[in-house]
Amino acid sequence: MKKKKEVICENCKTQSQCCRLGAWIDLEEAKNILSLGIKGADFFHLEKDENFPSGYKVGTSYEDEPCVFMTRGGLCAIHKISYDFKPVTCKEFPYEDGELAPIARYLCEEVKAKHKKKRKRAR
Ligand code: SF4
Ligand code: SF4
Repeated sequence: MKKKKEVICENCKTQSQCCRLGAWIDLEEAKNILSLGIKGADFFHLEKDENFPSGYKVGTSYEDEPCVFMTRGGLCAIHKISYDFKPVTCKEFPYEDGELAPIARYLCEEVKAKHKKKRKRAR
């Protein structure tokens, strides 16, 4: 049975928080995104990674900078054009392979709050 999601992004009040370090996405997704002609679109840190369908991943931010696709208003420039082009990693976040991603504790206020509550209950 599929696990019920604990975090619903539609209810989020700090949506751009989780984009502040960019994301790792598949190289083929990156090529498709480039075809959209978004101003300032760029990718960084190409690496081999067998967990990605093409065998390669690229980052959407330079080192610890925010994602290049995050607009001034905190929205995703790719999502604004087409949800279909939005990277799978971003669509799934704060989940990764059906589980909460470890980095979500630092990037997502909702997840952070849930961990805090759990820790309090455990005391
Ligand atoms: S992952 Fe967290 S911070 Fe990002 S949109 Fe979803 S609830 Fe908000
Ligand atoms: S591609 Fe869009 S959703 Fe993904 S990190 Fe960048 S701004 Fe956020």
